[in-house]
Amino acid sequence: MSTPDTTGHCLCGRVKYRATGEPIFRCYCHCESCRRATGSPVTAYAGYPTTNFAFEGEPARYESSPGVTRTFCAHCGTPLTYEALDRPGEIHLLVGSADDQDAAHLAPERHVFENERISWVNLTDGLPRKSAATGD
Ligand SMILES: [Zn+2]
Ligand SMILES: [Zn+2]
Repeated sequence: MSTPDTTGHCLCGRVKYRATGEPIFRCYCHCESCRRATGSPVTAYAGYPTTNFAFEGEPARYESSPGVTRTFCAHCGTPLTYEALDRPGEIHLLVGSADDQDAAHLAPERHVFENERISWVNLTDGLPRKSAATGD
């Protein structure tokens, strides 16, 4: 059984993407920067090698902190991906932008930036929780 390609798109459909293979990183991020970028209390990510990821249509880019680039649709504003210099060669797509958001291979396997979690966000999933580091 091979993992199906993960396709996704912004709200208006001008920017699409395709990721192939199994994600190398899956998490919920509770950091404040992700909250600001998405307007949501928690964000789910699936990370892929950049070599396995391609945009169709050109997203806008924003350096949200030094070394961190977020992409979004310049027309409708949907946040799409996250890249960081401290995780070279990786791109993390926002699972909420995937076409099949219920795909089992996109399910988060950990929480990161637990130390910045909003107190009323309580996902009782039993997954490991890390403070600060998004690392492994
Ligand atoms: Zn759009
Ligand atoms: Zn974050």
